[in-house]
Amino acid sequence: MGKGHVETELVTLGRDPERFAGAVNVPVFRTSTVLFETVAAMDAASAARARDEMVPTYGRGGMPTAFALNEALTALEGGYRSYLYPSGLAALAGALTSFSRAGGHILVVDCAYAPTRHFCNGTLRRMGVETTYFDPAIGAGIADLIRPETTAIMLEAPGSHTFEMQDVPAIAEAAHKRGVTVLMDNTWATPLFFKAIAHGVDVSIHSATKYIVGHSDAMMGVCIANKASWRQLTTTSYELGYCAGPDDVNLAQRGLRTMAVRLARHQASGLDVAEWLRGRPEVKQVLHPALPGAPGHDIWKRDFTGASSLFGIELKPCSEQAVNAFADSLELFGIGTSWGGYESLVLPTRVRKDRTATPWLFEGPLVRLHIGLEAVDDLKKDLDNGFRVLRQTA
Ligand SMILES: *Cc1c(COP(=O)(O)O)cnc(C)c1O
Repeated sequence: MGKGHVETELVTLGRDPERFAGAVNVPVFRTSTVLFETVAAMDAASAARARDEMVPTYGRGGMPTAFALNEALTALEGGYRSYLYPSGLAALAGALTSFSRAGGHILVVDCAYAPTRHFCNGTLRRMGVETTYFDPAIGAGIADLIRPETTAIMLEAPGSHTFEMQDVPAIAEAAHKRGVTVLMDNTWATPLFFKAIAHGVDVSIHSATKYIVGHSDAMMGVCIANKASWRQLTTTSYELGYCAGPDDVNLAQRGLRTMAVRLARHQASGLDVAEWLRGRPEVKQVLHPALPGAPGHDIWKRDFTGASSLFGIELKPCSEQAVNAFADSLELFGIGTSWGGYESLVLPTRVRKDRTATPWLFEGPLVRLHIGLEAVDDLKKDLDNGFRVLRQTA
């Protein structure tokens, strides 16, 4: 099944009712041990696994529940194979470990998700891997930073909290000329809105916790690899013991079925609120690459086919106390990390200490918003009240 428009693919991919008593959904296989009739059958299954066939051998290696999700995500992103992890951070750590070596060097975009940096500065450094952070606007200039011992480049567009875009094809071209593997955290765009592998990325990494699960009720990560990078990624990830639990896989599979309709609404509401915020006297600028005139819009328009609903605002200079009072006063926007669920969220941005490659460009405080599936008018009313509190506190 599958093939066609993405909405149709989301409904049909990874289903196989004939195998499962007609059930429309693949059942949840809660399994550690897989039994075989004979030792020869067990050896044959292991050999099939080594050839990348989706055959069950042991719970950690995946059961039909996981295989169905793998198949769907691989097809959506346009990769060769995919690997599931217990969280998005596990997927990032798995990919970075797969493409690093002692005495080697990696290049990481300065606007990467902060825990990505912490992994590079902590565990990878301890293992003898050196990290250089680079300006998100570097483009083909990345060639100057590639050394003989450089093994990988990690991208993330738009960047966490500050939403800088990157010229992915230009960076990938420079990397591949020197045999360097390109990894990208593609969580923001989801597999729907940026085809990372078609734009030169070798491994596209997602926190499935966000829009794929979509309901703030499970943690999961996925790496979708092209053929050139699959062997190294899967070998290291399996050696590290990574796998995702079947109940969480089932929740991700369920989220996937409605992802196109949810994202259409997230996108429209996000742009509506972003445009409205641009007209507010308290707001200096809106950091949403899909908004015409916003930073990174040209690259977004060239390479992406849609937008999710996570973006930033730079407030006109005001006290930290005023920013916190603004966030505290909101009733529909919860204060909390994560995003991609049905509910709106607000988070004061505190990533200045996690930017080292370029000077900090912002004068006023930044706030990150996730626009959920509530009515846009209610959200605007809530924000309007928040700005009243902000002005009173400033
Ligand atoms: C949340 C997030 C992650 C980590 O995902 P978890 O599932 O929370 O581990 C990775 N990258 C980005 C951009 C994120 O926002």
